[in-house]
Amino acid sequence: MIGVVANGVEYSTVVEFFELFKTPWEFWRPGARYDVLLCSNSVAPENDARLLLLYGAQRQAFEQCRGTKTWSVHGHDFVSFRGERMPIYGNCLLFDDQGNKVLCHEGTKSAAAISMASGTQAVVRLGFDLFEEVRYLFTLGQPAEFADIPTLELHISLLRELILSWGLPLVEILPVPAGHRFIVCLTHDVDHPRVRYHKCDRTMFGFLYRALVGSVINFCRGRRSLRQVAVNWKAALSLPLVFAGLAKDFWNQLDRYLNLERDLASTFFVIPIKGDAGVDSHGRTRANRASPYASADIADDLKKLLSANSEIAVHGIDAWRDSAKGGDERERIQEITGAGDIGVRMHWLYFNSQAPLTLEKAGFGYDSTVGYNETIGYRAGTAQVFKQPNVDHLLELPLHIMDTALFYPSYMNLSDEQAGAAMLPLIENATRFGGVLTINWHDRSLGPERLWGDAYVTLLDDLRARTPWFATAAQAISWFRKRRSAVIESVIREGDSVRVKISVDEDKGNFPGLRLRVHKARSTNDRIRPRPEYAEATFNQSSEIDVTLS
Ligand SMILES: [Zn+2]
Repeated sequence: MIGVVANGVEYSTVVEFFELFKTPWEFWRPGARYDVLLCSNSVAPENDARLLLLYGAQRQAFEQCRGTKTWSVHGHDFVSFRGERMPIYGNCLLFDDQGNKVLCHEGTKSAAAISMASGTQAVVRLGFDLFEEVRYLFTLGQPAEFADIPTLELHISLLRELILSWGLPLVEILPVPAGHRFIVCLTHDVDHPRVRYHKCDRTMFGFLYRALVGSVINFCRGRRSLRQVAVNWKAALSLPLVFAGLAKDFWNQLDRYLNLERDLASTFFVIPIKGDAGVDSHGRTRANRASPYASADIADDLKKLLSANSEIAVHGIDAWRDSAKGGDERERIQEITGAGDIGVRMHWLYFNSQAPLTLEKAGFGYDSTVGYNETIGYRAGTAQVFKQPNVDHLLELPLHIMDTALFYPSYMNLSDEQAGAAMLPLIENATRFGGVLTINWHDRSLGPERLWGDAYVTLLDDLRARTPWFATAAQAISWFRKRRSAVIESVIREGDSVRVKISVDEDKGNFPGLRLRVHKARSTNDRIRPRPEYAEATFNQSSEIDVTLS
């Protein structure tokens, strides 16, 4: 059991942190005994915990009593733990104590955390504010240049390693569904379901330029094959026939998506209102953000999706800043789908710190806007579903990979092969940390002139081979709600047998089970070269689970 001493303002962040690192913990109570006492920027109370973790970027009594020299450095810098780099966004306190270094500050090679033994207690002093870092990740999110680092998972990993490397036992419920390594949510923002909705508008002229001229330039740069140039020219020249209804609308790629994902689950975010550009965070209106269609215009597509068991959610216009408008956007889609709990992702990823609360007031069950337009990766530093500190019910499904970020010349501007290489570390991180990898491939991206279908097919093949659980966004959210409802009531160890009592809310969908991991307490000899040693069990309901460590 971990006892936590924190300041009142940190409480909601502490609670959420331990929904992601799901291990027994509580706020410190006088007289209670803990294996680990974690103090965040607070004076450690009298205690006999075997491991005392002192987090904080301010000078504390620990270094004052020992006369350890310290100095402060500004944030947005890296520390490393066993060679793994982790950014710290707030200030960091460094210690003039190389002998007991636990974390290395990259810029100065000084110690950003030190450890010391005093009697039977080990003390680790870490020179940053853990829960301030976590709050920053949840609310502001990482700047794009650090997008590739799953920082929040690294904070959890560091804490887990500190506990295990000091020979303490640990149990946790993994962010991984039973029978799988991770979850994949395939999603599609439906921005341009038909090219015929764009007769003589800016989008059409942009398309013609990119199809006729851009394709040739890209062919000369080796980015397009001759076949692709021919496909784009043919599409451009067929435009009058498409407008006349005499040729297939090549931006309607729904059937191809349904075919590619026939054995998989996926979620389509559909715009409820036509012709409304909404307002950005500076109060400006960008005319080209307005949708040329409303959900009602593609009713046949939506019927097809529903009969294929795909999920339909809201691609919102103003829901992020106005809960009344959000309620209206939600109702328009709910009238079509009949779903009780419905999610949202904002068009152009419009968002701010108040948006989660506004979306919750508008009646949404989850949001999937927290990601980047310009790059791929972890805005909130995690692949886990999480709850923003200021809301009660709304969960956030972070968005990790968007096709437009990979391929737009003004963003990452990658070739198909480079895009595959850029996505690979995210897939490998999902295999290592679990969670859910959320991908957004836009509706028209398979058609001319984008022709991003080959990259998508390669991605699906790679993912399929790793046998994740392909879930709709709502299913992934439900699975994480089930995990959040799980409580480890007690852990009783007798030698190598461990009995864990768990309570969990009843499973309403037929979802994969939860995974309990019981770590073996490492002997101190393993500290230098730790070997992972644990046993696992899966469960679906409240149970007493016996695990044998051998
Ligand atoms: Zn959009």
